[in-house]
Amino acid sequence: LADDLRCIGCGAQIQTTEPDEIGYTPMSALKKGFENEEILCKRCFRLRHYNEIQPVNLTDDDFRRLLDQISGTDSLVVYVMDVFDFSGSLIPGLHRFVGDNPILLVGNKIDVLPRSLRRSKIKDWMRQQANIAGLRPDEIALTSGKNGDDVPALLDLIERYRKGRDVYVVGVTNVGKSTLINQIIKEVTGERQDVITTSRFPGTTLDRIEIPLDEQSAIIDTPGIIHQDQMAHYLTAKDLKYVSPQKELKPRTYQLNAGQTIFAGALARFDYMQGDKGGFTAYFENNLMLHRTKLEKADAFYQQHAGELLAPPEADHLDDLPPLQRHEFKTTQKTDIVIDGLGWLTVPANAIVAAWAPKGVSVLTRKAMI
Ligand code: GDP
Repeated sequence: LADDLRCIGCGAQIQTTEPDEIGYTPMSALKKGFENEEILCKRCFRLRHYNEIQPVNLTDDDFRRLLDQISGTDSLVVYVMDVFDFSGSLIPGLHRFVGDNPILLVGNKIDVLPRSLRRSKIKDWMRQQANIAGLRPDEIALTSGKNGDDVPALLDLIERYRKGRDVYVVGVTNVGKSTLINQIIKEVTGERQDVITTSRFPGTTLDRIEIPLDEQSAIIDTPGIIHQDQMAHYLTAKDLKYVSPQKELKPRTYQLNAGQTIFAGALARFDYMQGDKGGFTAYFENNLMLHRTKLEKADAFYQQHAGELLAPPEADHLDDLPPLQRHEFKTTQKTDIVIDGLGWLTVPANAIVAAWAPKGVSVLTRKAMI
């Protein structure tokens, strides 16, 4: 394609090969665009015709510039995270960019957590994790952009905290920000199709999408940044489906003796090193196969079965997966060992457990939430 072929909406260079990058236009749409002498990237097309935003990815430099912008404004920052992938949702250095602006922390994808998990506990845990990351959220909200039920409540909260100011919505990719914004657009615009405006972020080819709230202020959606250490980046779209919970997680409980191992596909492994016989409860996508073996045979079992019996990933993508790395934990109370973006195992007190996860993916512990 010619270098100077640009989207008339956002000015991005048109390309037809990378659906998740800026300027993407499917070949079929490009042909139509030539006929109508109006070439729009898919993102701008959908925005114009459906008032719907599409996720785009940004380079780190563009993202820094964008965050820098926010620090110079007097606004409310709405920071969207995935409750199932806390570390993978972190924006490094966000606290520096937010400046003195208030933060509303949104834990999204709440629909996948078991109903027996109390909402107040999730919020407490999110606050702790946010504090560790240097953030002091003014308020924490829980949402599911997917079912959209809590969007009106979120908008009430936004209204309370923004005090007439603009609202910037930030988040890394895959946290469900686009889905949530689309729900917000529906809620705010109702039947009106013409309310969304775009304006350019200086120094980038990216539009910011503005959803007007009143005469003076708007909700401004910002593009997501890629967080490399997300489980999502190591898996194909198909494999990811087996891993990302679509529905409420159903706990699976195992009575384990020391010397036993549980595999979660080929993506994670838990070795019960030491402790009394006890109940271990796994919270992973309901279709993800869990396998129990003897610890002494676990290495050989993995060698032999990864990519087949132990999947995802499937055999042809196994090479893309970083090697599993071992993290050993000693518990003094009932503890969740969380593999970010994948799920968690609740282990009893007074146990020594080794958890294995792809190198780069965070493994953390917390007091058992259920
Ligand atoms: P973005 O990259 O942050 O804009 O995220 P998307 O909105 O594109 O969503 C990323 C993935 O998460 C998609 O597979 C969505 O189906 C899924 N997703 C988005 N919102 C939710 C939610 O509220 N609940 C659940 N379970 N999945 C969601």
